[in-house]
Amino acid sequence: RLEIRNLTRRYDGRVVVDDVSLRVGPGQVTCLLGPSGCGKSTTLRMIAGVEMQDSGEIWVDGSLICDTVFRVPPERRHIGLMFQDFALFPHLTVGANVAFGLSGDKTEMDKRVLELLKRVGMGRFVDSYPHELSGGEQQRVALARALAPRPRIMLMDEPFSGLDNRLRDGIRDETLDILREQDTAVLLVTHEPEEAMRMADEIALMRDGRIIQQGAPYNIYNAPVDRDSVAFFSDIN
Ligand code: ATP
Ligand code: MG
Repeated sequence: RLEIRNLTRRYDGRVVVDDVSLRVGPGQVTCLLGPSGCGKSTTLRMIAGVEMQDSGEIWVDGSLICDTVFRVPPERRHIGLMFQDFALFPHLTVGANVAFGLSGDKTEMDKRVLELLKRVGMGRFVDSYPHELSGGEQQRVALARALAPRPRIMLMDEPFSGLDNRLRDGIRDETLDILREQDTAVLLVTHEPEEAMRMADEIALMRDGRIIQQGAPYNIYNAPVDRDSVAFFSDIN
């Protein structure tokens, strides 16, 4: 369970994340949806702990992990990350990349790695190296790697953007299934209304750093708050 309260971030005096509050329950997917530059990635970076908020609090499973005086370092937050530019380790095989964050029994680990790779359609590449894969293939491996440690919280920033349409639907569904099986709380960032409508249990619509509307996808789609919102949703077919 993830909860953020009143997160605010300024760059050079300009507010880019403005008093954002959100809750994501276990097994739930919340989409942070909004146009380019509205502050989505900045919000995720603060939750991940790679960037500091100016004010506000972050809670995971009922424990405070960050406010303006107290701060758990990123590597101890048990938060999984899948970001746009998430690179694989070039010197490790696909299998070793996915196994990277895992510990315990070797046979169990190998089994889990292969199962995840198969589910994202990358099973036969287990012994390949990242440079032998296409961009989209690398991205599917990065997804498997992010899912492998069964994180309590998963932050995803446009994780499907490099995949072609045909592939994307399958990978999205598979990823959602895996996250629900693991009871992970997911905060998914996208600027595509269609993706949010498809994946979210709840949508938080963001504009100019603020959350302007929050609720079930169907409700958001059917009750746009203003003309800009109508326009934003209008390119869904
Ligand atoms: P996109 O959909 O294009 O990825 P976004 O919603 O993720 O957009 P952010 O990356 O969070 O947007 O950026 C929000 C605003 O903050 C933008 O106007 C951006 O220019 C600004 N910004 C982001 N990082 C910095 C930084 N390090 N220094 C100054 N301004 C920044
Ligand atoms: Mg972004």
